[in-house]
Amino acid sequence: MLFVGAGPRAIMILERLVARLREHWAADDAREVGASRLHIELVDPHPPGAGRIWRRDQSPLLKLNSMARDVTVFTDDTCTIEGPIRPGPSLIEWAEAWSRGELPEVVIDDEVAAAEARGLRGDSFPTRRLHSYYLEWFFRRTVANAPPGVTVRWRRDTVTSVRPAGADADPPHVVSLASGLQLESDVVVYTLGHNGREPDTATASLLDAADREGLVYVAPDFTADADLTSLAAGDDVIVRGMGLAAVDLIVLLTEGRGGRFTADGGGLRYIPSGREPRLHLGSRRGVPYRSKMSSVLQGEPPRRDILTPAAISSLVNRRELVDFDADVWPLIASELLVGYYRELFTGHPHRVRGDWPSFFALLQTVAWDDPALAAAIEDAVPHPSDRFDIPSLDRPLAGLEFADADAAHLSVREHIATDLRLRTQQENSPAQGVFMAALLSFLALSEIPTERWNARSRAASLPVRWHKFFSYVASGPPAHRLEELLALADAGVVRFLGPDVEVRVEPGRGFVASSPVVPGEKAARSLVDAWLPDSGAAVSDNAALRELATAHGVELRVSDTGFAGSLGRIHTDDDGRVLSAHGAPFATLFASGPFTSSTESGAFTRPASNALPFRQTDRLAGVLFAAIVAVHPAADTAVAVALPGVRASVPGP
Ligand SMILES: Cc1cc2nc3c(=O)[nH]c(=O)nc-3n(C[C@H](O)[C@H](O)[C@H](O)COP(=O)(O)OP(=O)(O)OC[C@H]3O[C@@H](n4cnc5c(N)ncnc54)[C@H](O)[C@@H]3O)c2cc1C
Repeated sequence: MLFVGAGPRAIMILERLVARLREHWAADDAREVGASRLHIELVDPHPPGAGRIWRRDQSPLLKLNSMARDVTVFTDDTCTIEGPIRPGPSLIEWAEAWSRGELPEVVIDDEVAAAEARGLRGDSFPTRRLHSYYLEWFFRRTVANAPPGVTVRWRRDTVTSVRPAGADADPPHVVSLASGLQLESDVVVYTLGHNGREPDTATASLLDAADREGLVYVAPDFTADADLTSLAAGDDVIVRGMGLAAVDLIVLLTEGRGGRFTADGGGLRYIPSGREPRLHLGSRRGVPYRSKMSSVLQGEPPRRDILTPAAISSLVNRRELVDFDADVWPLIASELLVGYYRELFTGHPHRVRGDWPSFFALLQTVAWDDPALAAAIEDAVPHPSDRFDIPSLDRPLAGLEFADADAAHLSVREHIATDLRLRTQQENSPAQGVFMAALLSFLALSEIPTERWNARSRAASLPVRWHKFFSYVASGPPAHRLEELLALADAGVVRFLGPDVEVRVEPGRGFVASSPVVPGEKAARSLVDAWLPDSGAAVSDNAALRELATAHGVELRVSDTGFAGSLGRIHTDDDGRVLSAHGAPFATLFASGPFTSSTESGAFTRPASNALPFRQTDRLAGVLFAAIVAVHPAADTAVAVALPGVRASVPGP
């Protein structure tokens, strides 16, 4: 069997498969010596485990967006999975064990990363470089755990094509690599992560305009890989997008160019190197994603009260398909309100009037946007700053008009400072209740099978509205990145443009950014669109993905489901089987990750949270095991047959 891509998801599926193989085949160990039963090949130009995103070879300034204690690749007792539970250390536990000398097999050969590992704390945000050592160790440990007769190998190469050897889609598949080698594999799993794509119409026209006018335009890209050298010292640069790609960009163009932050009173001061451009940041919301939290819940523990298993099952089992906006969003919104007010009532009872059971009953019966609820909240929560309002969480600048550009800049600055207080001070722990409710809702949505969502939900509401809202509320940058942003604003390196920023190209002036609620405009010779390329499997820059989408006709188009637009993703069933254009599953072609139609869940995850990635990878591993045995029954009977899995050949002239 062969994996196209050897990043975190591939190795986590591999670990789940190896755990099963050990369970089913280890009893045959004695008979197995010398017999080859299965060969697994992982093809990736980047090292296995870390893959492209987490590879060691990148700026040491770039970090994970999660705390070290919130990152694990190991299953635990909370996981509701069929495969064996195989616990192991989280990232912080691994770093501590390494520091104590308990992992002699781990050699951290980069002194900066080694120092980081020694000083790592549970609440540190580790560098991507350090994370690469954890993922690499996990891969090697998984390979070492493979039962006799099972071999695993990483091949440094790129898959360019996967074609059936015969006339139909039955195995073996012929896998062509960029090096010219061809492999034959019975089972192929695509785990090729996020990818670039051909420019869409808007990007293409900006590229043309930049060419025509002699401007610099950096199109949506993986920031760590983008060429930023044309953004010169002192240049004015308009940056669209204030999410995580923008955070990486700002880091690379400031500290990455030699600037430094020093402690200054209670905050930070930025000492420029003089090599930075001046960044003018704008987006639809006009503010960065909400800061990561450091407060903890002090009231009753979180749980799902509105989007309960019973509520989900009644949606799933009714005749009509589920519509996110009409059926699910109102439940999520009420769940967020319950999360917030439960913590306020039970963790800070002196700040409310009345008791939690009565207020909870109200939240269960009155719709989240009913004016009667707003009035009840005013009665029960005397201080306005203790009241929680979902629209202003989502669009904090909505309804504001600014006297001038300075007023808009200062308002965004103030918003960031307030958000930092809200999300990091213990007295504001109800915000943690909102975070937990958002997380539980995110997990709950995975209980709705993909095919039960209607076309509008699959095409727009889930991937755009919900995922963007969730990322903004629950997956923002570490607090220290926002403190740095404030220091950069104070140093004049960063300016905020306000909400709903639009950019046009004007001959002679270059890129011109404006916000409908801020007088004036900002013209600049450079523009960066700081977000990841949209999905577009059929127009991907990744030949293997493009072929899968076009040659096999398996890209999920929303026209298939009667809704205008395109998902640009590979259509899979909930087991991870690739579906043909007619919706029929291929028995030996699988796909998992953000380029597929299944719920996006990332890869590594929080310990002890029955996290979705484990449920997905375990389920896929179970199906893979069945596929291996179905293709090669001999593999399950411990007979030494021709090596099932992968065979290599170099094509003739
Ligand atoms: C910039 C960025 C930052 C992120 N930060 C975080 C974070 O802080 N925390 C978090 O939890 N998640 C983060 N994520 C989400 C990220 O997607 C997951 O953490 C994780 O990397 C997903 O694993 P994956 O294996 O599915 O995809 P990837 O990590 O993208 O791995 C896919 C692999 O497939 C390989 N590949 C692709 N095509 C081919 C081919 N044709 N032939 C051979 N190999 C191929 C690639 O080289 C790559 O190594 C981030 C994502 C991005 C893009």
